[in-house]
Amino acid sequence: MSGSLPSSAFTDRLARARKVAAERGVDALLITPGADLRYLVGYQAMPLERLTCLVLPAGADPVLVVPLLERPAALASPAAELGLEIRAWDETDDPFALVAGLLGPGSGPRLAVANRMWAEQVLRFSAAIPGADISLAGAVLHDLRLHKSAEEVEALFRAGAAIDAVHARMGEWLRPGRTEAAVGRDIADAMVAAGHEVASFTIVASGPNGASPHHHLSDRVIQSGDPVVVDIGGAMPDGYCSDCTRTYLAGGEPTDEFAAYYEVLRQAQQASVAAVRPGVPAERVDAAAREPIAAAGYGAYFVHRTGHGIGLEEHEDPYIVAGNTEPLAPGMAFSIEPGIYLPGRHGARIEDIVVCTETGVRPLNLAPHELVRL
Ligand code: ZN
Ligand code: ZN
Repeated sequence: MSGSLPSSAFTDRLARARKVAAERGVDALLITPGADLRYLVGYQAMPLERLTCLVLPAGADPVLVVPLLERPAALASPAAELGLEIRAWDETDDPFALVAGLLGPGSGPRLAVANRMWAEQVLRFSAAIPGADISLAGAVLHDLRLHKSAEEVEALFRAGAAIDAVHARMGEWLRPGRTEAAVGRDIADAMVAAGHEVASFTIVASGPNGASPHHHLSDRVIQSGDPVVVDIGGAMPDGYCSDCTRTYLAGGEPTDEFAAYYEVLRQAQQASVAAVRPGVPAERVDAAAREPIAAAGYGAYFVHRTGHGIGLEEHEDPYIVAGNTEPLAPGMAFSIEPGIYLPGRHGARIEDIVVCTETGVRPLNLAPHELVRL
């Protein structure tokens, strides 16, 4: 899947990654399949037991090492247009020795490996490269992936529009008498129809299930008057992710108690979004959501951080949580998703993806926040 980014975007990322690696005293990055590999060269490689690895030395040209049978897939990816060498290894070759050879004769190389590299591969590299000083590539790639380019923000905006379109159709599927699982299947189909390559998760949490923030789907039949938390997201063909939650009322009228705490939640989410601007510590945005919920007496029922970064991964830096003092900066994209969960009874969550801009904030989800009665 080629995605929509031009080759120049990947060439620029590779150059910046090499520059940061050199500044940090890293001799080479070793990047196995996952979001880091896709970020750097656009290749959505299969995570297999056979080694695929981008070898990115700080001071030499990169090489993409792939199993022979994966070479056609690598050649069909944007990586093939970057002018980097694609080196295939045959079934009986030792790919770890091959990588060691690419790193040259120096002893004790300082290597930064992808944070999600499989442990068995880390240990094989450690054995194949005597004296290797191994650290995490996240330290090199963190700042790059954290600050989204204008192209990436637009990609996230397209993902946001696609998931908004699914929420806008919720009344077609979500109604009393249907099971969460049946509603979830319809939602997943609609996510793909709206432009996602894959529907990554579908949470339909009705009635008491709404009190479990990561409830998925069940065979529970939705009852009239149930609050239903619907948290859905997927990945677009270019790899950028959507993630949006709305809470619905499936028929009937809300109880006074639910209507009251839903309004507290709505205002808390709004206050948190309004707190986003450059220079504000991430934890301040969390506090902006938490304080009004606590003031209304529901603090003990808001049991998770306010948000997470999003990009090529559904959850990545920055995390919007107490203790994260990282100042927000233009191009940071993250969720703002406070919730209130009353165990055994019901719950509610409102989630938008937002981007920090030069002057404030740009929400990427535009569906209304008021309780929607279906
Ligand atoms: Zn979500
Ligand atoms: Zn989320």
